[in-house]
Amino acid sequence: MVIFKSKQPPIDLPADLPVWDFLFASKFSPLNHHPESELGGFENAITKERVNWAQCKEYSTYISTALVRNYGLQEQDTISLFSQNTVWYPIAMFAGLRVGAKISGASPAYNVEEMTFALKTADAKFLMTTPSSMGVAKAAAEAAGLPLKNVFLLEGELEGYTTVKNLIEMGQSYGEQGQVRRFELPRGKKNGAVCGFLSFSSGTTGLPKAVMISHQNVIAQCLQIQQITPVTQKKIMAVLPLFHITGLVHQMHLPVLLNADVIMLPQYTMEGMLNVISEYKLSELLLVPPILIRLVRDPLVEKYDLSHVTRFSSGAAPLSEEIIQLLQKKFPGTGFKQGYGMTESCSCITAHPPEKFDYKYAHSGGAIVASTEVKILKEDGTEGGLGESGEVLARGPQVVMGYLNNEKATRETFDEGGWLHTGDQGLIDEEGMIHIQDRIKELIKVKGIGVAPAELEDLLLGHPKVEDVAVMGIKDDYSGELPKAFVVLQSGAQPSREVAKELISYVKEKKVRYKWIKEVEFIEQIPKSPSGKILRKLLRDRKEGTDRGL
Ligand code: AMP
Repeated sequence: MVIFKSKQPPIDLPADLPVWDFLFASKFSPLNHHPESELGGFENAITKERVNWAQCKEYSTYISTALVRNYGLQEQDTISLFSQNTVWYPIAMFAGLRVGAKISGASPAYNVEEMTFALKTADAKFLMTTPSSMGVAKAAAEAAGLPLKNVFLLEGELEGYTTVKNLIEMGQSYGEQGQVRRFELPRGKKNGAVCGFLSFSSGTTGLPKAVMISHQNVIAQCLQIQQITPVTQKKIMAVLPLFHITGLVHQMHLPVLLNADVIMLPQYTMEGMLNVISEYKLSELLLVPPILIRLVRDPLVEKYDLSHVTRFSSGAAPLSEEIIQLLQKKFPGTGFKQGYGMTESCSCITAHPPEKFDYKYAHSGGAIVASTEVKILKEDGTEGGLGESGEVLARGPQVVMGYLNNEKATRETFDEGGWLHTGDQGLIDEEGMIHIQDRIKELIKVKGIGVAPAELEDLLLGHPKVEDVAVMGIKDDYSGELPKAFVVLQSGAQPSREVAKELISYVKEKKVRYKWIKEVEFIEQIPKSPSGKILRKLLRDRKEGTDRGL
């Protein structure tokens, strides 16, 4: 058996610590190693509102007490966080975690239907949002049967709604003795596998699913990444969305362990981001490929002195050779690192260790992180050796528990040997670095965010002119990929530009922007296997027909 092992020393995973205890009440906590004046915290880049770890601990304690005592929150209830980046997002998250609730992040751009699906799939009992998202939140809560008294505001005010600050006051009113005890991992439970998070991913096939991420998964990933993070990294810009696994780990948990300041950007705009980078003199930037592309191409960048930036960090999607070269040219003397992984591996399977923070290694997704193993499964079913290409399989303490209420998908993705089947094709080179070459699974990655073809196919099948449809990703300069629909029309409907536009608008009306279809191609028949599975490879390899719509 060919198994590639990490070259890093194994992590010492505490067996019985939940996340809150790990970060705020254990030997790992920065609260144990630093005086209050030196504590990092979450800071709003625009308003400068700042909450340090000591306040984070205090506020999350009060909020958790109010949620349990005034609103009946129970262990393993799900709290959905539906918001752009704000310092109150992680505080609410830590409050829920403290008393054993599950935290489920949803894109703040979701419409009512998408949000309803998210609430139902995660079986959410509580919802926290912001004034600008309240319209969608309220309608989705009603549709999902979530009582409006359990809908809270993370920030701002709206008549009739309880805010997180109100919850802090309610919790405070019980006094120090009246605070609800924090939850404990059941003794003897293998690896403390209690679910703390439900994040969405479509996995290798089908509709988005709620990925069950344990307390232990997040702690393991924090320790794995801490090992390869230079201690000098003291400011982390949080421009990536908090609901995505990268945001969850690298912008909310890891910074506490590292005692680093998190500079939160409520919304991404190029100019806003550049202002923050130069105002805070940030040295390392954790970004996704579409933002890196803009950094090398947008003339606006010339207006800024970014000489304090010493390193770029990329993840969540492939980065092209061209961009790597331009980045190196435009920012000479900087270093580079990359992480590769997925929601199902609680972020990184591989990442660059400090000795490889160099453009020379930029084409690789990094080296296997501590306590993790990788196997390459070749097409013929045998295991690949060095330099041989196949599906990447990973095993380690960050590999998640499975999908909520979806045994079938869980069994297909996580095998009995504990291996996660990533659906990515890659190889390990002589230096132990991974190279991701292709995606075998259906997933489309738009600006680093996953889009499930099945979700768009389901929608388009409901259009009266569509007989059959298959959706796939096509390359796009800025977004990495965008969805394209191959459509078989109902008899009677004629392929035309107008119909293509109609279908594109139909998706626009019903789905969040990053799921919008870029183009439609009309075809005679969707190639399928005898069992009805869409043969996407055949579609991808086929030459575009003359009957292309748009
Ligand atoms: P998500 O669950 O949204 O994080 O998506 C995970 C998928 O994104 C992986 O299975 C890969 O297909 C892709 N991905 C993530 N990181 C990288 C990377 N560094 N290089 C290439 N693809 C990546």
